[in-house]
Amino acid sequence: MQDLTPEALLEAVRRWVAIESPTQDVAAVNRMADHAEGLLRAAGARIERSPGTMGYADILIGRIAGETEGPGILLLGHIDTVHPVGTLAAELPWRIDGDRAYGPGIYDMKGGNAIAMAALAHLHASGRRPHMPVTIMFIPDEEAGSPSSRARIEAEARRHAIVLVAEPSGEGGRLTVARHGIARYHLKTTGIPAHAGAYHAKGRSAIREMARQILAVEAMTDYDRTITLNVGTMAGGTHENMVPIHAEACVYVLVPTAEAEAEVRARLLALTPHDPDVKLDVTLGLFRPPYRKTPAIQALYDHAAALAGELGFALAGERVAGGGSDGNFTGALGVPTLDGLGVIGDGPHTHHEHLLVSCLVPRTRLYLRLFETLTPALVAG
Ligand SMILES: [Zn+2]
Repeated sequence: MQDLTPEALLEAVRRWVAIESPTQDVAAVNRMADHAEGLLRAAGARIERSPGTMGYADILIGRIAGETEGPGILLLGHIDTVHPVGTLAAELPWRIDGDRAYGPGIYDMKGGNAIAMAALAHLHASGRRPHMPVTIMFIPDEEAGSPSSRARIEAEARRHAIVLVAEPSGEGGRLTVARHGIARYHLKTTGIPAHAGAYHAKGRSAIREMARQILAVEAMTDYDRTITLNVGTMAGGTHENMVPIHAEACVYVLVPTAEAEAEVRARLLALTPHDPDVKLDVTLGLFRPPYRKTPAIQALYDHAAALAGELGFALAGERVAGGGSDGNFTGALGVPTLDGLGVIGDGPHTHHEHLLVSCLVPRTRLYLRLFETLTPALVAG
């Protein structure tokens, strides 16, 4: 890609969006990986593609040499979306309305992948290289919590000096400098079944116990400390005339720091049943650790803000994101991570998901300048 025009970039985005890639559809995500692999090759990258594991699609890595050697930049992008195949033909067709371009996954995060690759292709086509080596890693299962790629992401992060994440920007274009941790807990109660008529007193209700646990769990929410516990799903019982033997609930926990995470984890794992005849099991499910802004992340942000200024636009500031990304893994390892470098838009995971066409050229140029100017010294502090 020689020209970084709005038309050329929008067409690059459209090609990403045209291939629907819901996480659970391995063939679909691998079609997306095929497209990404073509782009990596066109940007001069050496390809490493590993077959998917745990029922997910392939992990795709491209390595581009820099002007210098040594630990480089790891660029993370996930190629899966939450939208089932067919969304593009029905609820969320590709369309441009003024400055908005709509499509499944366009904001989260095909737009970000498209512009990052456009910047790398542009460098390659003009016979240049990034200053530091750049490794691009495309993740097939981020929307499921990256169960099959977490270990690979962490292994790559340890070998790199800087991590950039092309996830969507925050409101107005804010970059993400820290993220809350996210943990899912599964609660299960097992009671004693009984006929709800004549033998009601012999039963021990799993639902009744779960109801009390849910209140206890939700009471751990502390808005002042930005700790939230949300019982998002619950189910239980088999028949209305039976004292229920089973109930289960899933808790979605958001925590700002590792200390808060440990505190909440200890409280949840210490929960005990009110009714000694009912069994309670609490297990930790998928987990993304929190990461906080470090001086090195501040230096990355300040550098990006200065580059944006040279390019003639202002970043809208920094933010602590409530949602998780693969940046959680790298930031929590202590590798300086600047996230939210994708496109500006709104409506992730909805049928009004869109990006702002006006952000495409400036954001692509910002990538270009980051690749040209980032140095290990910037984050060495
Ligand atoms: Zn995302």
